[in-house]
Amino acid sequence: MAIDATQPYDDDNIFAKILRGEIPNKTVYENDYVLAFHDINPQAPHHILVIPKGKYVSWDDFSSAASEAEIAGFVRGVGHVARAAGMVEPGYRLLANIGQDGHQEVPHLHVHIFAGKPLGPMLARS
Ligand code: AMP
Repeated sequence: MAIDATQPYDDDNIFAKILRGEIPNKTVYENDYVLAFHDINPQAPHHILVIPKGKYVSWDDFSSAASEAEIAGFVRGVGHVARAAGMVEPGYRLLANIGQDGHQEVPHLHVHIFAGKPLGPMLARS
């Protein structure tokens, strides 16, 4: 079910539990600002999620409230994960879902990294 991106941060969301080590994950990369791990239900041959370590509900929350260091750390972290996985030359896609119409399901900011095959048009055609 999609969430309201304007809701307050929920400490019980699944990515908060992953950050606290209460739920296992397949970590790809971690530093002071980000955790990257494999999506549990991959939608492409490579499907990695990158999340900030701070408590931000969505891209909207993060882009308005995060510090310059957190924003730089997150953007650089996403780039690092894709480069380290060898995705730059073949190419990859970033996706951040925000709120109801964006179909965001987990209320902690995450960027999806998809790669491993030609990914087709930007949005599914209905
Ligand atoms: P979104 O619709 O952008 O909020 O995407 C949430 C993503 O989180 C989905 O692709 C899920 O497969 C993924 N997900 C949910 N729970 C877990 C988990 N425990 N470990 C890894 N990925 C998860």
